[in-house]
Amino acid sequence: MSDTIRKVCVIGAGTMGAGIAAQVANAGVPVLLLDIVPKDAGNRNAIAEGAVAKMLKTEPAPFMSKSAAKLVETGNIEDHLEKIAECDWVIEAVIERLDIKQGLYARIEAVKRDGTAVSSNTSTIPLAQLVEGRSAAFQRDFLITHFFNPPRYMRLLEIVTGPATDTAIAAKVERFSDAALGKTVVRANDTPGFIANRIGTYWIQLGLNAAFDMGLTVELADAIAGKPMGVPKTGIFGLVDLVGIDLMPHLQASLTSTLPKDDPYHAIARTMPLIEKMIGEGYTGRKGKGGFYRLNKEMGRRKETIDLASGEYRETIRAFGPSGAAGKGDLRALVETKGKIGDYAWAVLGGTLAYAAALVPSAAGDVVAIDDAMKLGYNWKAGPFEMIDKLGAAWLAQRLESEGKPVPEILKIAGDRTFYRVEDGKRQYLDLDGTYRDIKRPEGVLKLSDIKLASKPLLRNGSAALWDVGDGVVALEFTGKMNALDGDVMKLIVEAIPLVKAKYKALVVYNDADSFSAGANLGLALFAVNIAAWGEIEKLIAGGQMAYKGLKYAPFPVVGAPAGLAVGGGCEILLHCDAVQAHAELYMGLVECGVGLIPGWGGNGEMLDRWQKNKGMPKGPMPAVAKVFETVSTASVSRSAAQAKELLFLRADDGVTMNRDRLLYDAKQKALSLVEGYAAPEAPTFRLPGESGRTALGMAAEGFHKQGKATDYDMVVSAALAGVLSGGEADLVDTVSEAELLKLERETFMRLVREPRSIVRVEHMLETGKPLRN
Ligand code: NAD
Repeated sequence: MSDTIRKVCVIGAGTMGAGIAAQVANAGVPVLLLDIVPKDAGNRNAIAEGAVAKMLKTEPAPFMSKSAAKLVETGNIEDHLEKIAECDWVIEAVIERLDIKQGLYARIEAVKRDGTAVSSNTSTIPLAQLVEGRSAAFQRDFLITHFFNPPRYMRLLEIVTGPATDTAIAAKVERFSDAALGKTVVRANDTPGFIANRIGTYWIQLGLNAAFDMGLTVELADAIAGKPMGVPKTGIFGLVDLVGIDLMPHLQASLTSTLPKDDPYHAIARTMPLIEKMIGEGYTGRKGKGGFYRLNKEMGRRKETIDLASGEYRETIRAFGPSGAAGKGDLRALVETKGKIGDYAWAVLGGTLAYAAALVPSAAGDVVAIDDAMKLGYNWKAGPFEMIDKLGAAWLAQRLESEGKPVPEILKIAGDRTFYRVEDGKRQYLDLDGTYRDIKRPEGVLKLSDIKLASKPLLRNGSAALWDVGDGVVALEFTGKMNALDGDVMKLIVEAIPLVKAKYKALVVYNDADSFSAGANLGLALFAVNIAAWGEIEKLIAGGQMAYKGLKYAPFPVVGAPAGLAVGGGCEILLHCDAVQAHAELYMGLVECGVGLIPGWGGNGEMLDRWQKNKGMPKGPMPAVAKVFETVSTASVSRSAAQAKELLFLRADDGVTMNRDRLLYDAKQKALSLVEGYAAPEAPTFRLPGESGRTALGMAAEGFHKQGKATDYDMVVSAALAGVLSGGEADLVDTVSEAELLKLERETFMRLVREPRSIVRVEHMLETGKPLRN
């Protein structure tokens, strides 16, 4: 049996199968995608081929790059099933029918190698039933891998093994799913709905029931069981619209037929005439004619909501949900709010938490598995047991008891303790035997949040901190809102350099947040503009240039480790690193033109240098200048790390980590690998085209302007950018030094930042989060 997975086969090219195949390809692993031969088809591979073609047009994109799509080989189960022999893992994602799945396994068994893992993506069918009639050898290789939709973006993967499953096979699939596919694996027992959907469906049903029973509007229900509960602001009705109202009766039927008779779900499951009527008339949610919410196109895209009592649409009204602490995540204040708000919150939350608490150990081995499943499968901020800690386990037990409801065993075990605690700098959870155990991270997982529990920062100010992450490596962390960058960040960098030089080997730029950095703190910049503190702004620009160059030329390796958003100044710091280890989900770009500015912290020179050195660039200074101009003037942002490489925001040999939790560890390894024989880079010189280049770029921009793709003010900003990129007054024969280019960048920035139309753009961005096209 091969220990690694080198090729995967996915059978069933529907929503899930196609998405899973794309994620395998995103990991750089070849994948065979098969479906049935369509009736009367000329093209026998039409379904799988169609699925790939459709994914290339889908938003949000299932593929991280066009080249990933090329790793998907398409076929059908009549002509190509033998190719399974080439694969180390077969993932079945065909329609949810036991007979069809069983029939397919019989055919797979006939052609597969021993030791090739076979897994089902079933949402509802027990493993025991799936493997009925299969050989012992097949059962050893079989497990359930339950992905969430969409497979690229949802981090949860529930794995269920049967009594016959070989632990080595399960471990192999788990390792690959974690490191290559980037999923957080949660082990679940072979019980109906596994973990996330079991709790999620219960929560949704409670939310619908209570809203109908208490006569709440849809808007108010979602305003309560949304943000204030730490769940996505779509709330429950909004979520049902998103996943499809027609899915509800299916989930209900499946759970009522498979859950044990004494499961509390039976008491809350009900058919709702309004929902049946909506489905019957095609109101199945966002994919249908509309759902609980809709945009009425006949009324000028008026936002409408269904009235739960009459079943008629009416204009959406703003609901006044919980206020004060109850609206800001204080769950106790929320459920204790007097009136409908508190009653609804308690009905939904109290019921869901009690239900979830009772599922350990039947559905999941420990509280951590339950919490991870809900955080990663339903995007809850906190898992059920973390929420119980906020309410107080003893408080919850008492309230349940006072209402005559059963108190889950685990709440009794907890007593007046919490489910999580920090002991000796380690995060621990409460196990069923009443003792606390350390939360173990898989090998290769390093979290800054864990380091922070156990140590104090080496340096810290209001916007950044420096941490010792072990083995002679330090991490520079941004700590401001959205990890915005300001003078304090630059100050800390300047202080860090001699410290690292004296006592450490390397530095990584990393933080645990979803967004690496949204760039310069525009709010602060705007404040300075409003009081005409031009000197301060110039100081900030010069200080940032100096800090970033300080990192670049420091006598130790600097590795950037971004995940999520890395734009503006957040992108520029990465351009100055010796190497980058990026999370695969990286949205990186120089977006300054969008707010009427240009990159001011050395981004122009770094991008020019990359394009000039890029292999296969045509001769002369102009091609590189044109490339940078195109990328920066259009504020291009990558949609993945793979795309960031295409745009040269990343270098070809920069590393990509698929699993977010492994990023810091990987970056640290990369930094350590650079330590021996490290020499700082040499400063580049630029051959720039001067006046003639500026003219050429201006003509290109004018083309966009004529097509209506660039506004009048875009022309002003892009002309300023062209001035910098072409080297200002330089003419073709001149070389421009890095320092000269920085000066030009600074002067041009200072000119733009005084322009009223730039200031309006900045204000608009701060107010709306979107660029203004003035
Ligand atoms: P889907 O209807 O979008 O796709 C099913 C695909 O299976 C279709 O392309 C169909 O042509 C193909 N198919 C049918 N019979 C086949 C056969 N004998 N051999 C090969 N292909 C066959 O369904 P989906 O939503 O992608 O669901 C697939 C599986 O994943 C189901 O088991 C479902 O329960 C599970 N699941 C779905 C979701 C979700 O959100 N949609 C989430 C997790 C798990």
